[in-house]
Amino acid sequence: MDEIFIEGLKIYGYHGVYPEEEAGGQNFVLSVRLFLSLQEAGLGDELDKSISYEEVCLFLKDEFNRQRHQLIETVAERLSAALFKKYDALKELELRVAKPEAPIDAVFENVSVCIRRKRHIVYLAYGANEGDCLKQIRDGLKMIDEDTHCGLTEKTEPIVTTPYGGVEQQDFYNGAAKIWTLYEPHELLKFLHKVEAAQGLERDKKQHWGPRALDLDIIFYDDIVLDSRDLTIPHPDMGARDFVLKPLAQLAPFYRHPLTKKTVAEMAAVPMETHIVS
Ligand code: AMP
Repeated sequence: MDEIFIEGLKIYGYHGVYPEEEAGGQNFVLSVRLFLSLQEAGLGDELDKSISYEEVCLFLKDEFNRQRHQLIETVAERLSAALFKKYDALKELELRVAKPEAPIDAVFENVSVCIRRKRHIVYLAYGANEGDCLKQIRDGLKMIDEDTHCGLTEKTEPIVTTPYGGVEQQDFYNGAAKIWTLYEPHELLKFLHKVEAAQGLERDKKQHWGPRALDLDIIFYDDIVLDSRDLTIPHPDMGARDFVLKPLAQLAPFYRHPLTKKTVAEMAAVPMETHIVS
């Protein structure tokens, strides 16, 4: 992939674990590689099809001391997320934060951390059947969109479905959303649990297939295949649930399941015991 490279941007800042670092400050040096397609900009000689390196330098200088952190890892994480929020065209980045004057009782040239982040594409299924369902769905998706490490790209309108699994309860509102995220899969799951909790889901009390204020499932995460104790991607039950497949087919009909190689449209076309009411 094409790249814009900014090397050795010097910024005075106040991050660090020691009180003297916070009080007196020191020099930091940033280097950033921005990965995106530069072909359209190059063919048309148009700056607005690229990312202005001048703007990035000034943005980083501005953001750098907006919050104070102990760790340069946190500085790098926050700055990288801010760049992804600002530039839709940015696909991946590598950001190095160096501290050449770190207070270490040793002779050294430099110490730094370098992080690599990618804009991952994720399809979620949402469902709610307890409380003010439509508001909980709307507010939950808004929390995702406003988070530092995620953004909402597209969503379907909710459909009404009859409950699954034999527990006596109200109808569900179900739908799908396409988001982007910088979180790795388990970090994303933790974040989605926070969103569910903020919308009233009490995970400890939750009954399997029982009522829920907001349920968010990861259906696809790029094209990864992951099996772990608390997370399976693609979601193992997606193929049996028309209330997942029908909305998902509106957003990603040509997306291929990484294991079965079937498209979502093909999966959604298979007749199954239907739960959809309207
Ligand atoms: P649920 O009943 O759908 O809310 O799922 C409960 C648990 O399923 C979660 O706490 C996760 O640990 C686990 N889980 C496994 N795979 C997934 C996935 N793809 N998306 C969401 N949760 C998952």
